[in-house]
This record gives sequence, structure tokens and C-alpha cells, in this order.
Amino acid sequence: MHFTRIVVFFFCVWSAASLAAAADDSFPTGQKLESAHFLIYSDPQVDLTALFQSLDVGLGEALLVNEPGIKGDNLPVVLDALYSRIAATLDMNLYSLRCMLKICRNDAHLKSVARVVLDREVEAPSFYVYEMNTIYISAEHFTKEVLGHEIAHAIISHYFVVQPPAKVAEILSGYVEYELRKLSRQP
Ligand SMILES: [Zn+2]
Repeated sequence: MHFTRIVVFFFCVWSAASLAAAADDSFPTGQKLESAHFLIYSDPQVDLTALFQSLDVGLGEALLVNEPGIKGDNLPVVLDALYSRIAATLDMNLYSLRCMLKICRNDAHLKSVARVVLDREVEAPSFYVYEMNTIYISAEHFTKEVLGHEIAHAIISHYFVVQPPAKVAEILSGYVEYELRKLSRQP
């Protein structure tokens, strides 16, 4: 018990120090939406209706099949449903976790944000920064698989007091992606 407290204390100090270094991502203050599990910021040039459609028309209804009375016809509701699905797939039910989701206007924008936040080049269409509890994703790749992969990273990294090895987190996130892909094939 005492040991756990010490670990948590140092963990928090380390996180705060890292956050201070990486807090300013120069992300434009564009459109903002809120849901139970996400604070969503999107670049002003992003068309939220198109974004919702690229996520998968009908996905909301498929995910909310056990939630009568809730319509999956808007982005925040569908994102929360996606979150719940992923938490259930991982068997890591973090009901109170809320993370930031920042949607870049295109791949080039995402790359430029990565240079600021990570200080390196990225080839992926999305990434998650634990210290900032933020998912960054390009609007050009706003699919449930790509987004789901990063949501899995957010859940995995908050579920354990000590972070699992990067390879393990990658395997689990890949598994979530695979499960979400199967969902598309269902009638
Ligand atoms: Zn990953």
C-alpha cells in the first residue's frame, strides 16, 4: 500500500514535468464539442458532418443496440459508444476517463503538429500523447479503426498504475482495430 503511494507520487511528478514541456501544441482554437469521454477540438476547416460520415454511417446504431432511447446520430454520442465498445473489448472499464481528441485538417497538419508535440516526424495518420492525454488524428483518416486504435492506447495507458511495455500496448491496440474491422462486415 505504502509502496503504491510512493510510485503514484513520482509518477504524477514526472507527468507534470513532461506536460509542462509539451503543453503548447499550437493547435488552432476551432470547433469544440464535448461528450462523456472526450473533449473534441477540430481545426476550423474540418467539416464535422463529413467527419461523422467517414466514421461509418450506421456505426452509432450498431454500437448503441443495447441502449434503447439513445440515437447514434451525432458525433459525441457515437464517440462515447465507440469508447464503451473498446473498453469492453479490452475488458478495461474506465468509466470516468476523459481524454482530448484533436482533429487536424489533413495529414500535413498532423505532421506539423507532431513536429511540435513529439519533436519528430510521424508517418501514421494519428497518435496519442499520454502526458497530454490527447489523441491527434487527421480528418483524412477519421475512421473507427484508426481512431479506435488511439482510444485503446488512451485506455490501456490509464488502466495500469505502471505503464505496460510499448509492444504490449501496440498488440492490444491492434487487436481492438481488428475487432472494429469485423464490426463493419456485420449486416
Ligand atoms: Zn499504436
